[in-house]
Amino acid sequence: MERIKMREKLQEKLPTKRYEHSLGVEYTAGTMAFIYGVDLEKSLIAGLLHDCAKYVPNDKKIAKCKKRGIPITDYELKNPELLHAKLSAVYAKEKYGVEDEEILSAIRSHTTGKPAMSTLDKIIYIADYIEPNRNILPDMEQIRKEAYKDLDVCLIHILRNCVNYLQKKGSTMDPVTMETYNYYKNHTCLEEKNI
Ligand code: FE
Ligand code: FE
Repeated sequence: MERIKMREKLQEKLPTKRYEHSLGVEYTAGTMAFIYGVDLEKSLIAGLLHDCAKYVPNDKKIAKCKKRGIPITDYELKNPELLHAKLSAVYAKEKYGVEDEEILSAIRSHTTGKPAMSTLDKIIYIADYIEPNRNILPDMEQIRKEAYKDLDVCLIHILRNCVNYLQKKGSTMDPVTMETYNYYKNHTCLEEKNI
């Protein structure tokens, strides 16, 4: 399916604000693709479709994942909203004809991240956080700059802020978020990067 057709279809499935967010992620991911040498079209499609199953009701999210044999963690069962990432990857394939595994992977991991992400995975995770329609979150100005300087520095900054925020609030968090944070903290030499 052409990207322009994907947009028409997506617009019917999402409320206006979420659709605008999707376009924001699409274009932000596109600009990051220019810098980091990943395929532009893949980046745009992953950005556009990353939330395409967001408005499937939560009980249906669980049922639809189960039906397809997608593994659901305990944390996701308790917080089915998180499943929109996995289900959006399924919908991208089934309803928008996306076969490319790199695109599907980036959609699948956009909420929690995961250890050892591909460049495209990182771009979509970050673009989702920094796109222009987003509410201004703490350190946003700096995080937006980092996004165009060093993906790992930016990723760690976002993850650190998320982990701190959730811990301060006393909220639980998906263990995968913590796993991802620890992975990148341990695998990135921030001193060397000098940012
Ligand atoms: Fe999302
Ligand atoms: Fe999103």
